[in-house]
Amino acid sequence: MAQIIDGKKISAAIRAEIAEEVKAMKAQGIYPGLAVIIVGENPASQVYVRNKGKACEEVGIYSEIIAMPEETTEETLLAKIDELNRRKEISGILVQLPLPKHINEASVIAAISPDKDVDAFSEVNVGKIMIGNHRFLPCTPAGVMELITRSGIEIQGKNAVVIGRSNIVGKPQAMLLLHANATVTICHSRTKNLAEICRTADILVVAIGKADFVTVDMVKPGAVVIDVGMNRKANGKLTGDVDYASVSEVAGYITPVPGGVGPMTITMLLKNTLTAAREQNA
Ligand code: NAP
Repeated sequence: MAQIIDGKKISAAIRAEIAEEVKAMKAQGIYPGLAVIIVGENPASQVYVRNKGKACEEVGIYSEIIAMPEETTEETLLAKIDELNRRKEISGILVQLPLPKHINEASVIAAISPDKDVDAFSEVNVGKIMIGNHRFLPCTPAGVMELITRSGIEIQGKNAVVIGRSNIVGKPQAMLLLHANATVTICHSRTKNLAEICRTADILVVAIGKADFVTVDMVKPGAVVIDVGMNRKANGKLTGDVDYASVSEVAGYITPVPGGVGPMTITMLLKNTLTAAREQNA
């Protein structure tokens, strides 16, 4: 039976460290601050944004939630970002995605100063991750790395398989595992022999967005299985991309959903906000 990697517990430990760090920074006159912009009324986005504000408050980071109406023009949003780029008390800026269809996401991401891009989505920060000279780490993949390392699992020399190649999760995840000296394979919807490749994985990270997709026959006994997926079932229950009940019988370690990767993403955002504040006050 797999050992459960408890994301809630690990996240709470890191947030306690962050709270201490915030105290120390404030004693040096550095006040980290995060601005979160939300455009429109997407209910899931509203929950995420509220949780980000709450998390900031808990660790002593100043936060501003800027709620803009659905009909906001791209020009107005870019002007708001420009204002936040200039404000000294704002160390990090995050624009909650998805944006309404009439706004170009790429233009918005590009407008955020790379020094304040705490989601690490901008071309500059993605490039820095690629060459291993990062300023901010992408939040979800960085959270996965913390879950693995804080569970005492060695990454170096291991075969890691990442399913999913999105810019937000799959690709940066593969890069972080590579920087940690794993041998990395990236799989996607056109991959042939997916199950066979997955069975080579000592570490399997799944970020697809399909409920219970990874079944026990795809997992090597003893493997570390990290489930990034967040899917709502018809009954409203949250479930991952991994068939937890069967896979946990053979895996060595496994993350549950909820309570695995989910809590780590905001925690890594808080960490990036501290990094931004420190750099801006260096
Ligand atoms: P995405 O942009 O939709 O990407 C999904 C990826 O999965 C794509 O690369 C796609 O391949 C691949 N894929 C889809 N079906 C597949 C199949 N049958 N076999 C192999 N690969 C397949 O999704 P995302 O933004 O990366 O998110 C993935 C999941 O993680 C979602 O459930 C999301 O809600 C969750 N998520 C969780 C957190 C968190 O904090 N826990 C954060 C972000 C995302 P192609 O490229 O070939 O289409």
